[in-house]
Amino acid sequence: MDYILCSDDYSLFREKLLNRSDSSMELFRAVSESIETIARKLNAGFIGCGLMAPATPLAPNGENGTMTLFHDKNKLPQIPVKSDFVQVTPTGEKGFFTFIAHPVSGHTFTEDEVKAIKLIGMDCFTLGGRARLIGMVQKASTTDLMTGAPNQSGFIQFANTLLSQKKRNNYVGLFINLKNFKYINKSMGSQVGDTALKIYVNMARAQLKEDECIGRLGGDNFFVLVNKENSKDFIDKFSNLSVNLSLGPKPLSFRIQARMGVYNVAEGDSIDELMHNSSIALNVAKSLHRDDIAYFTSDMLIKAIHQREISTEFHNAIREKEFIVYYQPKVNLVTKELCGSEALVRWLRHKTIVPPMDFIPILEREGTICNLDFYVFEQVCCDIQQWISEGIDPVRTSVNFSKNHLSRPDFADRILSTMAKHNVKSQYIEIELTEVSDYDDSVAMQNFVDTMRKNNISVSIDDFGTGYSTLNVLKNFNVNVIKLDKSLLDNIGKDKSQDEVVVKNVVNMAREMNKEVIAEGVESEVQAEFLKGINCTNVQGFLFDKPLTNKDFKKRLTGEHVY
Ligand code: C2E
Ligand code: CA
Ligand code: CA
Repeated sequence: MDYILCSDDYSLFREKLLNRSDSSMELFRAVSESIETIARKLNAGFIGCGLMAPATPLAPNGENGTMTLFHDKNKLPQIPVKSDFVQVTPTGEKGFFTFIAHPVSGHTFTEDEVKAIKLIGMDCFTLGGRARLIGMVQKASTTDLMTGAPNQSGFIQFANTLLSQKKRNNYVGLFINLKNFKYINKSMGSQVGDTALKIYVNMARAQLKEDECIGRLGGDNFFVLVNKENSKDFIDKFSNLSVNLSLGPKPLSFRIQARMGVYNVAEGDSIDELMHNSSIALNVAKSLHRDDIAYFTSDMLIKAIHQREISTEFHNAIREKEFIVYYQPKVNLVTKELCGSEALVRWLRHKTIVPPMDFIPILEREGTICNLDFYVFEQVCCDIQQWISEGIDPVRTSVNFSKNHLSRPDFADRILSTMAKHNVKSQYIEIELTEVSDYDDSVAMQNFVDTMRKNNISVSIDDFGTGYSTLNVLKNFNVNVIKLDKSLLDNIGKDKSQDEVVVKNVVNMAREMNKEVIAEGVESEVQAEFLKGINCTNVQGFLFDKPLTNKDFKKRLTGEHVY
């Protein structure tokens, strides 16, 4: 009977099986389509198989099934309860593959027939396993193993199929980023974080219809394609989802909050376009800090293109020295003398002056602001050295440093070494920082301020009065200057202004703590008079000067221009 296994029939049978396979059941179906000739030669009346595989992250329901591979009802009308041939093979992940065969009625399998059937069973087992493995590898490359949802490429595949079957403008694309996920991870542990992610995805999948889908793009980022009519419910529920967990001894209840960028899919949109547009809306939601949900508009796209231009042109602009430092004078209200200045950067781009608010927030988000701040600082040091070499006495100049620097361990050293390089004395420099809300940043800021103060360099808190931990700043940081934000002065002189009380008391408090106070954005005589009245004598604002070019500022330094 050996000849059966090396016959043309058998190689044809095997060949067919090799070509068709990314699931065991599909392979067994192929077996059933091509086994007949061999089964008859082996005098088999029935051949069948069964697979029982446990659940895995890739197959959450496991794999269970039996299949008739061959049955000649004429020669074996009734399948006996007890099988003549049974072969059970463990699959290696606590599952079993069973292969059974019965001879045609009245026949008993010969030894050779049993040998051949055994080998066919083994072949089905190995080829079925191979098919399963191929299927799993394919699935693994398109599935997020933690949540079981499609990953980015799986989502794109599935979304493409959906969009090819239905009108695109029926759909809404949602780019989702969990808002408080880092906090959940940090405060409750990563196991709770992982479970929270799984729950979020499972609940979303349970809510979504068959022609909708969610994919995990990585970390706490998800993308959802949902029918327009279901989108409002989905957004409402999954932007603030209540979760109950029982992982440890105590049940946990918390909310998972999410920011979402919402895009109404249009006919003709590719999956790339719709994901891109939703992500632009999400970035707007992130930067606004007002609403967690942002709906895409074409303005957002124009802005995003502009932002991309800014960030791609930035490095070249630094190299080409397109950034110019302006100086805004600080003036003493009593003596009407120049008492300091603030360095403010401008970008001379395509022959027009670009104000910092058009590019600094973009550079801050990307971290490249650090290069610009040191570029400005270097220029300020150069200018001070130059003025001194010309016999001009400089004033203390403040330079803005983004909070991005705080996470860099060499921040203070870089400032000290830049000053040393240009031989600039500490009395001429003031470092302007804004408040921080993050604990780590706050520790870094305390250390940084202490190092600066030890080196007799002034440090100011910029935009004082706009943050939420304002009073803590006075208490916790050893800064020597407070810069009152313009917004605190806007209502001065107006009827029933509570701001006058606030400003007066902040100035008093700062003075009692031995800190200098300077008011920013002073535009009117009324404001100046009020400030003088409460003994806040140093001011900066359009009432005296706008930020000036080096050339114009020099005229203030030399006394050529007086106030
Ligand atoms: P800031 O540090 O609060 O700077 C003060 C801003 O208020 C400046 O705007 C200044 O021109 C403006 N200003 C001054 N007096 C008045 C006034 O009386 N009325 C009004 N309406 N505005 C006044 P600017 O130069 O456009 O800078 C905007 C912001 O850009 C700065 O706000 C600062 O946060 C940032 N910035 C500027 N240069 C740098 C820099 O070199 N590095 C960093 N990190 N940020 C910078
Ligand atoms: Ca400033
Ligand atoms: Ca300011």
